[in-house]
Amino acid sequence: MELKHISKDIYDVEALRSDFPILGRTIYGKPLIYLDNTATTETPRQVVYAIRDMYYNHKANVHRGVHTISQEATMMMEDTRERVRRLINAPSTREVIFTRGTTESINLVASSYGSLLSEGDEVILTEMEHHANIVPWQLLRDRKGIVIKVIPLAEDRSTLDLDAYKKLLSPRTKVVSVTHVSNVLGTVNPVKEIIAEAHKAGAVALVDGAQAIAHMDVDVRDLDADFYVFSSHKMYGPCGVGVLYGRSRLLEAMPPYQGGGEMISSVSFERTTYAELPYKFEAGTPDFVDLAALHTAIDYMSAVGVDRIATYENDLLEYTTRRMMEIPKMRIFGVAPGKAAIISFLIGNAHHYDTGLLLDKLGIAVRTGHHCAQPLMRALGVEGVVRASFGLYNTIGEADAFLTALKRIAPMLS
Ligand code: PMP
Repeated sequence: MELKHISKDIYDVEALRSDFPILGRTIYGKPLIYLDNTATTETPRQVVYAIRDMYYNHKANVHRGVHTISQEATMMMEDTRERVRRLINAPSTREVIFTRGTTESINLVASSYGSLLSEGDEVILTEMEHHANIVPWQLLRDRKGIVIKVIPLAEDRSTLDLDAYKKLLSPRTKVVSVTHVSNVLGTVNPVKEIIAEAHKAGAVALVDGAQAIAHMDVDVRDLDADFYVFSSHKMYGPCGVGVLYGRSRLLEAMPPYQGGGEMISSVSFERTTYAELPYKFEAGTPDFVDLAALHTAIDYMSAVGVDRIATYENDLLEYTTRRMMEIPKMRIFGVAPGKAAIISFLIGNAHHYDTGLLLDKLGIAVRTGHHCAQPLMRALGVEGVVRASFGLYNTIGEADAFLTALKRIAPMLS
């Protein structure tokens, strides 16, 4: 995909913004300032057109059809698989499994790989995980009697205590499952190092890439990840679809997650054999419309350049953080060097919800609450925080409006 407003030297954010119709909205008569990109990113019109094109021209069930449109739909979905493979540098499309998103991808691994574990086997998580990377392992604990161990935060309350991690590893460690980027602290975890340690202990490693995929180049081969998972809706793509990358050797040894059509080779009442990878893990009709459109989202992101997006967002992050710290009683959570463009904060002891409501009245969309990370909230000693997060289309003008709003509401809250 070519984007006219992007060249080697130009990052024309206003032109990029014009691709996102929702950014033209007003809220309470004020221009929308969308700072909830960690929860979901907005969608460019190119992706919406791709969805429409599927419904208008190519909607037929995939895989089973000999007829032309079915073959077109199949080809479009499989093209996305190859595009995802290239995006994350996976060795083979056999290792790219389509799911409903990060949550389903982790449930798939916890359930299927987890079924190969035995009572007393250990799974290591971290204190900064999203509930999506906690609860599926607890369900496995209930089923199999595995033991969950947790890497705590270091003293800086932002990074992981890697010495503690090394001490948690044991011959019983079977899985290490960590987030690449914290959805609250913005911390970019040293996953390559974490994975290497896991492998030394004979464990496999899963990386939750939900917050990484739209903000940095991801190379599963370089990371040596066994599983890497992410959601389309956080990378300017459609809702409802996502990816599980898995090492083929592991996927082949794993039992299917769900049974049904598409995932079989042959079925009789006595015995069923399963389809080859990746289809063994894709029971039922996939969301081929949104999967086809995910291709366009990846092309869009790549046309802008993930590294350039990261640099641009980082400038916004540094500027906004520096200016926020000038506001009396501002408490910012997450101070790791090189963090992603996520700012979690509280103003004094003001309730996060009140701050969010007041910002909304000024047209500014931020998220409030525990951000599906209650154990992390406990570690930080808070019940919830306000979170502002940037995407490729946010501007310095929006950052200024946000800062002005914070200055205006801070005295009302304390
Ligand atoms: N992990 C992390 C780090 C996340 O930020 C999120 C979304 N907030 C998820 C997992 C879950 O993603 P989804 O709801 O798309 O499955």
